[in-house]
Amino acid sequence: MQMNRSGSGKPWASPCAACKILRRRCGEKCILAPYFPPNNPHKFSTAHHVFGASNIVKMLKGVPTDRRDDAISSMVYEANARVRDPIYGCAGTICQLQHQISELQSQLAAAQAELLALHMHQANLLSLISLSHTSKEDAQPTESDPQYKENKEYNIDGLFSDEMECLMLWEPR
Ligand SMILES: [Zn+2]
Repeated sequence: MQMNRSGSGKPWASPCAACKILRRRCGEKCILAPYFPPNNPHKFSTAHHVFGASNIVKMLKGVPTDRRDDAISSMVYEANARVRDPIYGCAGTICQLQHQISELQSQLAAAQAELLALHMHQANLLSLISLSHTSKEDAQPTESDPQYKENKEYNIDGLFSDEMECLMLWEPR
């Protein structure tokens, strides 16, 4: 295969894949030549099998020159999908992908909910930890604090108030 360096519209010196398969002369102005290089006959044969060469040419003529590359890629993709899946073609792939998207979206939503629950659990744990730290550090109970009373009662000469009462009872008269 040799590139045609004459600067004409046909980039290949040898006949394009389309003309080779259609057994026709590949002229300088062959509309299919830029898109169907001779080294990739499968690309044209698939598109031709599904759409027919005349429809490919008709479609190309209705598309601006700068969009023809994309149009051919799309037709070849659709043709390959139709060969793989004669009933649904591209629609089958689209449905499959949409199904996959909705499955992944529900998986994502479940993962996000789990993440949120874990974040809340973590926040609860952190607040509990900081609460126990502050209550240990600020362990200077005030009068209103019930713990203060309790400590006071326990700390009089290291005796319980009940014991104090007993001692008072046993005090010699
Ligand atoms: Zn050609």
